[in-house]
Amino acid sequence: KQLVLLGAGAREHALATKLRQDGATVHVLPGNAGIPGSVPAISATDFAAIKAFCEAQQVKLIVVGPEAPLAAGVADYFLDTDIRVFGPRRQAATLESSKVWSKDFMRRHGIATARAWSYRSDRLAEAQAKVEELAGQVVVKYDGLAAGKGVYVCNSVAEATAALTELRSLHEGWFSVLLEEKLTGPEVSLIGLTDGVEIRLLAPAQDHKQLLANDEGPNTGGMGAYCPVPFLDDNWLAAIRRDIIDPTLRGLQTEPFDFVGFLYFGVMLTPDGPKLLEYNVRLGDPEAEVILPALETSLLELITATLDGNLAQTLVRQRPGAFVGLVLASGGYPAAEFPTGFPIHGLSSQGASTQVFVGGVKAGAHPGELLTNGGRVAVLVSHGPDLPTAVQLAYAEVELVYFQDKYVRPDIGQRPSPQLAT
Ligand code: ATP
Repeated sequence: KQLVLLGAGAREHALATKLRQDGATVHVLPGNAGIPGSVPAISATDFAAIKAFCEAQQVKLIVVGPEAPLAAGVADYFLDTDIRVFGPRRQAATLESSKVWSKDFMRRHGIATARAWSYRSDRLAEAQAKVEELAGQVVVKYDGLAAGKGVYVCNSVAEATAALTELRSLHEGWFSVLLEEKLTGPEVSLIGLTDGVEIRLLAPAQDHKQLLANDEGPNTGGMGAYCPVPFLDDNWLAAIRRDIIDPTLRGLQTEPFDFVGFLYFGVMLTPDGPKLLEYNVRLGDPEAEVILPALETSLLELITATLDGNLAQTLVRQRPGAFVGLVLASGGYPAAEFPTGFPIHGLSSQGASTQVFVGGVKAGAHPGELLTNGGRVAVLVSHGPDLPTAVQLAYAEVELVYFQDKYVRPDIGQRPSPQLAT
């Protein structure tokens, strides 16, 4: 039961932890200084080196954490080998990497989503006319991977015009812009394992993207998450299945994609029903850090069943209670530059209901010492019988971890319950 896990963040730490609990021996390429079993010499996109490592260690399974190796074609590279990759091929990864392409897929297959219009960069005057027609109530999206910085949710014509101008100045040559009608409602992250025919959903989660309390301040990679989501009742789940998930599976089959891997649905619960905002072709981060501890079923068995086309025979059990994940960030994040290299203390002082997964860290001079080495340094996850108890425990435990300039958003898992029609 050996496997290679690709990636280097707190999400991969959570994946490695869960897969080890399931009985696997996990090699993390490249991993980081805080994840046991890391192999720092091999990057997650150096396919030849990954293959040589798998052959030397007789590893037959690769699980992919981040998007980059998928978009670079890791699943295609190993297609004719006896090494199986849990993650979709390059073409299916376009569901995440191109917003225009992904929106076309949603349209082709009748998936509930916001109305949208796409424009090439030589036709931004038309985009401007559409912005005015919609009175600036639009979302402007750059068509490409922009590390969470390509989306502008606008409130006025002036804001949308400024967004188009900024995109023009940031990107040289041809690019495309997607203009979407602005929707309202709470968002949920639904992540499943799928072979393109069946899907098994993990616990629904909610992310907190903005840096500051009350969803203010700049967007980040995510400041915290919790699961399950109390207001996502069976009626909403049934509507999401009918309007989003089932047509997506039919779409994956008709294209056809031979999709195997995690599939993430970013869904907004609007007054007109659920609408799909985006797909990701991998686990979300920080959603994974709460969803995986919540999963009682063996992830290793779920992955194997998905690869074997046996999901129909598989049940997913969740642990009872609630899971809350707080991101420990470096002060200054998400700016382009901020100080790092500070020693991290108290990483092993948590109680039995709390785990810490490390991401932006590097080894210090002393054995076992970790230093901050990025914006999102670690994710601390606590389990409680209900959401308020888990929140309280997480905020108490996070005090025990210290590094200079540590920042933790103060209101994770504490959004007021939304008023939703059912
Ligand atoms: P992520 O970092 O989540 O992968 P992304 O850069 O791929 O983000 P999207 O998920 O498409 O971009 O959008 C980011 C956020 O912008 C969403 O989580 C949502 O809050 C907001 N958003 C996107 N589309 C809409 C819309 N049509 N109406 C209202 N808000 C939207």
